Amino acid sequence: MTDVIIIGGGVIGLSIARELSRSGKDTIVLERNERAGDVTSSRNSGVIHAGIYYPESFLKTKLCVEGNKLIYQYAEEKNINHKKYGKFIIASKKNELSNLESIFIQGKKNHVEICKVDNEQVIENNPGLRFCQALYSPNSGVIDVPEYVTALEGDIQHSGGLISLRTSFLSAKKKKNKFIVSCSAEEEFSIESKYLINCSGLSNEITLKKIENFPTNKIYKNYFAKGHYFKYSGKSPFSNLIYPVSGQHSLGIHIGFDLAGGMRFGPDVEFVEKIDYTFDLSLKSKFINSIIQYWPDINPEKLHPDYTGIRPKITKPSESMRDFSIQISKDHGIKNFINLQGIESPGLTSSLAIGKLVNHLL
Ligand SMILES: Cc1cc2nc3c(=O)[nH]c(=O)nc-3n(C[C@H](O)[C@H](O)[C@H](O)COP(=O)(O)OP(=O)(O)OC[C@H]3O[C@@H](n4cnc5c(N)ncnc54)[C@H](O)[C@@H]3O)c2cc1C
Repeated sequence: MTDVIIIGGGVIGLSIARELSRSGKDTIVLERNERAGDVTSSRNSGVIHAGIYYPESFLKTKLCVEGNKLIYQYAEEKNINHKKYGKFIIASKKNELSNLESIFIQGKKNHVEICKVDNEQVIENNPGLRFCQALYSPNSGVIDVPEYVTALEGDIQHSGGLISLRTSFLSAKKKKNKFIVSCSAEEEFSIESKYLINCSGLSNEITLKKIENFPTNKIYKNYFAKGHYFKYSGKSPFSNLIYPVSGQHSLGIHIGFDLAGGMRFGPDVEFVEKIDYTFDLSLKSKFINSIIQYWPDINPEKLHPDYTGIRPKITKPSESMRDFSIQISKDHGIKNFINLQGIESPGLTSSLAIGKLVNHLL
């Protein structure tokens, strides 16, 4: 019998496994793919967020602010490629100024470092940008996610934890004080565990239906919000991350970078019925129309399809933002089971803080 089984080897499952195995618990991560971190954890902007946008009472805010500090420290300690680019949030039209002001107020309420800046300060390192007013967030940056995943895996293994790849979780039932967890790798087998943690991301709803006695009224329906990224060939005139004022379900089509300095735009947001990462080339004109608002000199010929990602939302398109859902036994009635749902952005940034929180909850 093991102490903990974690379903899902994305950055959330791995961060939790790292924390638990370091605190002496025998931990096994079940990951159905050939590599860990290959789903949503690899299909994002790679941005280390500061924690500006979310209501001050949200767990998201607390975990993002704490996670921001932890992930920079961790990147330094492990030599993971990362860069604190700093981010300008811009209002490109006058009618966006009140939204910009609301973002500023929210950032202040969240005790995040954010300031109003002179336009010359923005232009100096970002020539060609068109906007009325801007805010600056110095602690926003980018991390190399594959390197981050590798470092987490190394820590887990170093502390005696096991990441079982090509291993699918099939079902779980509780017998006295332990879970009997059925899995399939080359063949089917079962493992006994004291604790069970669900971090299966986009598959969370399906996973929960396979956990005996999990109350159906506590399962959030998963909504899939797809985002596309376009890369821009050639040298970037911009030195900072640039975000337009945010929309309801995303932070807007922003300017981001990979760690080689390559510039990309995205993600957009579109609710889809199923998980499908195909790239819709027809979106190019929508991207150009959006980017041209803040960068009139964009050369459309240099914009090329890059990749897509899907946000694991627990909100319908018509609903406003929801907090991360981390349910423990008092929420669902199953002792020693922790269920994480709706871990969309800023999940990457928050991952190490989520690991600490779950360790504390156990
Ligand atoms: C477009 C986009 C942009 C984003 N940008 C940012 C950003 O800039 N900054 C930020 O902080 N966050 C960002 N995020 C959010 C961040 O990527 C996620 O919060 C984070 O990756 C979630 O990690 P996870 O481990 O929960 O999920 P995943 O990475 O999806 O991991 C879940 C794992 O569970 C496995 N699994 C599922 N079912 C089973 C099963 N039955 N058996 C075994 N294994 C199973 C899957 O194979 C998968 O590997 C973005 C997300 C998207 C989609």
